Amino acid sequence: MKSAYSIHIRGVVQGVGFRPFVYRLARAHGLSGWVINAEAGVEIHAEGTQAELQAFVHELETKPPPAAQITSLEVQVEEPQGLSEFTIRESLRRDRPTVRISPDLPVCEACLTELFNPHDRRYLYPYINCTDCGPRYTVILGLPYDRPLTTMKRWPLDEYCAAEYHDPANRRFHAQPVACPACGPHYELRVGGENVEGDQASVRRTAELLVSGKIVAIKGLGGYHLACDAKNSGAVLALRERKYRKEKPFALMVKDLEGARELVQLSPEAEQALTSVARPIVLAPALVELPAVAPDCDELGVMLPYTPLHYLLFTAGAPQVLVMTSANRSSEPICYEDEDALDRLAGLADAFLIGERPIARRVDDSVVRALPPGPVILRRARGYAPGAVATLPARRPILAVGADLKNSVTLVVDGQAFVSQHIGDLDHYESFLAFKETIQDFVTMYGVRWEDLLVAYDAHPEYASSQYALGLPAAEKLALQHHRAHVASVLAELGQFEREVLGVSFDGTGYGDDGAIWGGEIFAGSVAQGFARVAHLRPAALAGGDAAARHPVQASAGFLAQVSDAYGLPDLAAPPFDYPPRYRRALELVRKNVRTFPTTSVGRLFDAAAALLGFAREVTFEGQAAMWLEHLAHSVPTVEPYPFPFTDCELDFRPLLFALAADRLRGRDPHEAARAFQLGVAQGVASAVQNLSRARRVGAVVFSGGVFQNALLLSDLGLLLGGSGVEVLTNRSVPPNDGGISLGQAALAAFQAAGSNESCAGSTMLERGSDG
Ligand SMILES: [Zn+2]
Ligand SMILES: [Zn+2]
Repeated sequence: MKSAYSIHIRGVVQGVGFRPFVYRLARAHGLSGWVINAEAGVEIHAEGTQAELQAFVHELETKPPPAAQITSLEVQVEEPQGLSEFTIRESLRRDRPTVRISPDLPVCEACLTELFNPHDRRYLYPYINCTDCGPRYTVILGLPYDRPLTTMKRWPLDEYCAAEYHDPANRRFHAQPVACPACGPHYELRVGGENVEGDQASVRRTAELLVSGKIVAIKGLGGYHLACDAKNSGAVLALRERKYRKEKPFALMVKDLEGARELVQLSPEAEQALTSVARPIVLAPALVELPAVAPDCDELGVMLPYTPLHYLLFTAGAPQVLVMTSANRSSEPICYEDEDALDRLAGLADAFLIGERPIARRVDDSVVRALPPGPVILRRARGYAPGAVATLPARRPILAVGADLKNSVTLVVDGQAFVSQHIGDLDHYESFLAFKETIQDFVTMYGVRWEDLLVAYDAHPEYASSQYALGLPAAEKLALQHHRAHVASVLAELGQFEREVLGVSFDGTGYGDDGAIWGGEIFAGSVAQGFARVAHLRPAALAGGDAAARHPVQASAGFLAQVSDAYGLPDLAAPPFDYPPRYRRALELVRKNVRTFPTTSVGRLFDAAAALLGFAREVTFEGQAAMWLEHLAHSVPTVEPYPFPFTDCELDFRPLLFALAADRLRGRDPHEAARAFQLGVAQGVASAVQNLSRARRVGAVVFSGGVFQNALLLSDLGLLLGGSGVEVLTNRSVPPNDGGISLGQAALAAFQAAGSNESCAGSTMLERGSDG
């Protein structure tokens, strides 16, 4: 007795080998019917016995292709039509592409086996791929995802590849980037005036150059890397010098998991992230010292090979640990076009390993830190972008342009929020161009009409992203406050738009409702109703604007002036503090109240603490002083925290910094003092959260903003709030730093919820009540 099922599957199911997978599975179970790519995913009609059909559905759910993500699978019982075989039907044409573009995928096991099989047609061929693996987002020029709309359009399939491409039973059925050495693109090496042609010869020579300490620009999936032997400190220091990158750690690529285990301490969570299909750079505690790679830092960023080329390089004898850093000068966007790379990297690389396949758009490596509750994405790019991260109740398309630092943009189409890859800091002209290109790219690719768009942007009137948004030909535009967007990003990921929460939003800088530099804000409310600011860090004066973010001692002046007024402080120009003259000049500005700006930035509070602990120089990358402090602290298990009281809706930093200064003066071990500061911050925040959650009967708290990249702070907060009944919510799919802002903006815009200021009478009353 035959039955029939109609099965609708939604999620990331197109461009990931889903139809061939369904085809093979249906045949294996003896079913007849068809599968088709439809408007909203994949549709299957299957006929067979009840037992066969159920086994088929079970395997669909439990063993999908590695890159597929099923978000829903609906089964309806139908009348059997008496079909005799199972087929893959041609895709339906549609007006607007709402399918999801798959992120790029690492080379799969089956392709790797072929890659190293001397009898295979694609033996040692760096562009081997199949429907389970290979490039996607970085080769797509437009939708629908089809060969003529990819960067492979220049290479017509030969007979061999065409036969595989058209065979539904083959692993390469409709694999758009499919190619072989006879019909596809190749690599070549340029070194000095010489050209080394041929995939194998150029890979071998590259490996030799790396062994001899040279720096090679290597074209990958989403751009060029600069590679060198990580254990050759001469090579690494040369790379630092040429790249103008003084201290920021370099990412490493190791041959395999064993190699990674020799370098870093891998928790099960870290191992899972490392081997996931996104293949991100994973930050983990270092087991070896590579001071040139990661100065002043006891963490290393490690990734595994993800393209066939990477495997070929290691097999050809390249050093087993490679520095693999984005090819650019310090903080410019990554090079991805050959001519531009040859031009911009001329003084940086000794040689260029150039692949012919063009890259459609630049996509950096992603960066993840794996914590016990789950991975935190610090830079979301290759392997994740442009995946949808949330479903928003938005009837109209929304474009959210993010913030100026660590920019990403979000496009919401039919309720799906697609977040772009990390674009970078928009004060660089090249990054700003990339920002404009990405917006154009998204809007065009998803067929959105400008006149339908709601554009959301940061309330900062001087952000380049805000000014650009205001010039767009969109129907409607909405300014949204930075720190509320951080909070909303977490709730958007969770799809909890009505839920009342406390939102703790701590970062370096963001434009406040009152025009002040915010960065230590606590809100109450929901995405749907908006967020009221109910508490904040005690304000301090920030002397000299932007430069203060680069000089911890300058940032500290306004904070320490208040500590000095309250408790007295010794001369910080004298030992052990040895502050440079910049401090005295900043202090003068604060005292005279000229060129100062009020701030509640917790990022600057961490800078002030780092300065007291000895970080009196200029930072060379954003967040460096806070990272330095965290690393100082984290080897110390626990100490008595410094006081950071919460009263009158303010977290008072004065006792906190005074205790730190006093301990430094007494000569206390800086590791212990850093730990007492960190734990003090956590304790202050935890008591504020508990106090406000009782007063407002709110059972959950969101932590977001760049300060929450600090793993130690998050783990302290988790422990302190563990038994309190307050649920802790943090970012999982987008970064807690400004890379997540665009998602939060999109969520707030979907509800047009701007939020407000509110006095915190509720908590004050409760404080009095609980005192009595
Ligand atoms: Zn493959
Ligand atoms: Zn071919």
